[in-house]
Amino acid sequence: MTAEPSTPRAAELSANLDRVRARIRDAERAAGRPEGDVRLIVVTKFFPASDVRILADLGVADVGENRHQEAAAKAAECADLDLTWHFIGGLQSNKAAAVAAYAGVVESVDRAKLINPLDRGAGEAGRVVDVLLQVSLDPPDRAGERSGASEADLEQLAERSEAAHHLNLRGLMAVAPLGEDPGDAFERLAGIRQQFLQNHPDATVLSAGMSGDLEQAIAAGATHVRVGSAVLGSRPAVL
Ligand SMILES: *Cc1c(COP(=O)(O)O)cnc(C)c1O
Repeated sequence: MTAEPSTPRAAELSANLDRVRARIRDAERAAGRPEGDVRLIVVTKFFPASDVRILADLGVADVGENRHQEAAAKAAECADLDLTWHFIGGLQSNKAAAVAAYAGVVESVDRAKLINPLDRGAGEAGRVVDVLLQVSLDPPDRAGERSGASEADLEQLAERSEAAHHLNLRGLMAVAPLGEDPGDAFERLAGIRQQFLQNHPDATVLSAGMSGDLEQAIAAGATHVRVGSAVLGSRPAVL
């Protein structure tokens, strides 16, 4: 059991979390999936470690961050908590080894150049890091702006991840592109995943869905949703 929220911020996060958990339950039911099938990752980027602490008190076990410096600082501040840190942002290869020292899951592996430094960083830290391959759902004419690997590149990325001793390939991650119905995008993702699972039957994780589209993602088979603003409130405008 979790304690009664003791500050206004704790009460706010608790109420928001209840609403998001209810949305997830409703979406699981609507999709004919068992309750508890979908795991919630709360995206805490831009919000302080004090919020992470409140969330941990409220039973959150998985948190997501998208920038290395901020993530590393918060993970250090919250090292006494039993949390899994998910790295979900664009990753520079020169930061990858450092990320592997604290992230339990790196969800944004989208090119082969990241694999060696991630593997080395995990090995140096004496740990095994779960990885998800981020697949782009952008239409081909917008391929230049994409973050995420093209479907054609997934297989070689998967093979390299599987060959890395300190990495554990767990599945796929995606973000619905702007300007398209997320339901359509996640339906494409479900097809990509089905294909992927034929060669990698143990890589069953599908991380998809955010505050605005978690229902569509759960309908398309997401096992993990990454929710920020619906729990923490709106972020300050990005610089
Ligand atoms: C910020 C972010 C989220 C959370 O987005 P919200 O709309 O605030 O829920 C999810 N996934 C990724 C990759 C993000 O960068």
